[in-house]
Amino acid sequence: MNARPAPEFPSWPQFDDSERAGLIRALEQGQWWRMGGSEVNSFEREFADFHGSPHALAVTNGTHALELALQVMGVGPGHEVIVPAFTFISSSQAAQRLGAVAVPVDVDLDTYNIDVAAAAAAVTPRTKAIMPVHMAGLFADMDALGKLSADTGVPLLQDAAHAQGARWQGKRVGELGSIAAFSFQNGKLMTAGEGGAVLFPDEESYELGFLRHSCGRARTDRHYIHQTSGSNMRMSEFSAAVLRAQLARIDDHTAIRDQRWELLSRLLGEIDGVVPQGTDPRADRNSHYMAMFRVPGITEEARNELVDTLVEAGLPAFSAFRAIYRTPAFWEMAAPDTTVERLAELCPNTEAISAEGIWLHHRVLLASEEALHAAAEIITDAVAAR
Ligand SMILES: *Cc1c(COP(=O)(O)O)cnc(C)c1O
Repeated sequence: MNARPAPEFPSWPQFDDSERAGLIRALEQGQWWRMGGSEVNSFEREFADFHGSPHALAVTNGTHALELALQVMGVGPGHEVIVPAFTFISSSQAAQRLGAVAVPVDVDLDTYNIDVAAAAAAVTPRTKAIMPVHMAGLFADMDALGKLSADTGVPLLQDAAHAQGARWQGKRVGELGSIAAFSFQNGKLMTAGEGGAVLFPDEESYELGFLRHSCGRARTDRHYIHQTSGSNMRMSEFSAAVLRAQLARIDDHTAIRDQRWELLSRLLGEIDGVVPQGTDPRADRNSHYMAMFRVPGITEEARNELVDTLVEAGLPAFSAFRAIYRTPAFWEMAAPDTTVERLAELCPNTEAISAEGIWLHHRVLLASEEALHAAAEIITDAVAAR
């Protein structure tokens, strides 16, 4: 393989004077938590408006956002939550932290999103929630999932950690009628290093979420009347000030990523032995959290070596998520009657994607077209050299 100069990609996270001004504003406010300041309140209003939702609640991180959402939905011991087997581990850990059983189901081999027929087959009388993950910013099939939810009475919880600003048939995340959870961890599309948010479609669940994210205390409580169980998941004023600045940048970034993915997915599709993540024409705005592709037929070991080769050549490349049932974390709280072999048999597409999948950090999609051509050439050489 010829040594090529490493292409230049923008750094991440990005910031300018608006983040700087926000941090100073929060500092000089003299109140650094949400109960005294105005940054968290303002961010929640702006984030809710951006997603077409009546209510947003800012929280400490995306994992807590999922936990809080499930708790508000009444999930606890004895319940089951259906999650895609191909996702970041928080999707299942959030259910398990509440004492519920996370039930992994397979995903679609093209979109990497939850297989709705598999989800339907997994519903039992104990199922309390179905959690689609909009993988890499591509919406899960919200039409089929909405129908499944209506038919079974099981509510949806959107894991929208990758989906800031994404749309499904013109609708925003907050316009689909279900609770949605977001992450603002350092690598996410807008970030304060850590952070999360939950969108609530109705006042009642929002108010319950507020209580539970603040140790069960109402906003004005000065007498320690803890009305519900809960925890402290409050976002600080500094994080919210940064996120307000980040939110102002996301539409421009999404437009660039969208254009660049069109180019990069075409280039990837032309490489022998490479298949980029597919699309769904109904997911008419993709936020592009990751640029994902598969090398069908490659072993997991060879894929890992390929990722190392790409990193050495200057690409921010990573292996795809492991199937959640192939982590020790999952088995601490798994259903007693299941085995890894049984789940693997039920989830052939997850097996393939997690062994064959590679993703590039979304900052690649903010780079020049020239840099994307260079990235595709590096991938072409690395795949051909195997
Ligand atoms: C990042 C992520 C989370 C968790 O978010 P944190 O803020 O890191 O806790 C949850 N689900 C998915 C799909 C994620 O990618």
